[in-house]
Amino acid sequence: MTVSRRGFLGALGIAGAASATLPGNAQAWQSKAPPDPFGCLVDLTRCVGCRKCEQACSEVNDLPEPAVKFDDLTVLDAKRRPDQNAFTVINRYYTGRIDERDKLVPTFVKVQCMHCQDPACVSACITGALTKKENGAVHYDVNKCIGCRYCMAACPFEIPAYEYDKPILPRVRKCTFCFERISKEGGKPGCASICPVEAITFGKRSELLRLARNRIESDPARYIDHIYGEHEVGGTSWLYISNVDFKKVGFQELPTRPMPQTTETIQSALFSYLWSPLALFGVLGAVMGVTSRKHDKENGHDA
Ligand code: SF4
Ligand code: SF4
Ligand code: SF4
Repeated sequence: MTVSRRGFLGALGIAGAASATLPGNAQAWQSKAPPDPFGCLVDLTRCVGCRKCEQACSEVNDLPEPAVKFDDLTVLDAKRRPDQNAFTVINRYYTGRIDERDKLVPTFVKVQCMHCQDPACVSACITGALTKKENGAVHYDVNKCIGCRYCMAACPFEIPAYEYDKPILPRVRKCTFCFERISKEGGKPGCASICPVEAITFGKRSELLRLARNRIESDPARYIDHIYGEHEVGGTSWLYISNVDFKKVGFQELPTRPMPQTTETIQSALFSYLWSPLALFGVLGAVMGVTSRKHDKENGHDA
């Protein structure tokens, strides 16, 4: 049975609620977020949708030529997700804003791995192929990967992609945060280096949060009062500010609780509190039941 991402997250919700009934285990979880990581701040009010960041990403990561050339903006007519051949994509949204000539004003949104502070993908990866680095990057080591794809099911942003077309050594693929580049003094991710309008600012996450707050406070007519990624899923290395509601431009409303807080609390409970077989089978049964029902529903079978 294949476990869908939504089924997996739904089951985690039930299992998390069950684990919360165990004495003391909620306190056991400790965030492993690095204290002073790098990040990127994307200012949606500046992005002009030129796709130069997509091109730079493709060149830096030696990705295949895109089906639609980077200077062809018709690709923005359809929503896209990052995949194994494109670690970042730009999407265009119309939210009803009009300019002085009554023309609809688009909002462009760059999508890539958010490099979460406490990443669900890292927590789900049983082999240590995914790790959160001190500099903020969520790093992938193909040599440790067994292709289980739990990371894909766990990611709340639906980011990791898989090379299904490579039977010999398929890899999980996602934005690398240009790990090698940012590990060097003064190095920046390819996308942040190329952006012609400085819609992407690279720097320490703490400084980016300060910059974002300054921009919002100094021009409240231009920005909504929300830094996306400051608190979502416990915080992410990629941060966004916007002039329109994030819900209207493809961002999910997510809890502030880091996803691993639920999963690792369950693991901790299993190993630390020696659950009775009844309690253990109860929660595992709930997890499997929800997963199986959602899977059946999504595949058009009767539940
Ligand atoms: S390069 Fe900058 S302006 Fe162009 S699409 Fe990317 S983020 Fe937007
Ligand atoms: S966005 Fe997804 S793939 Fe990226 S770090 Fe977060 S959980 Fe992992
Ligand atoms: S597919 Fe690879 S990276 Fe993803 S969870 Fe499994 S071992 Fe980890």
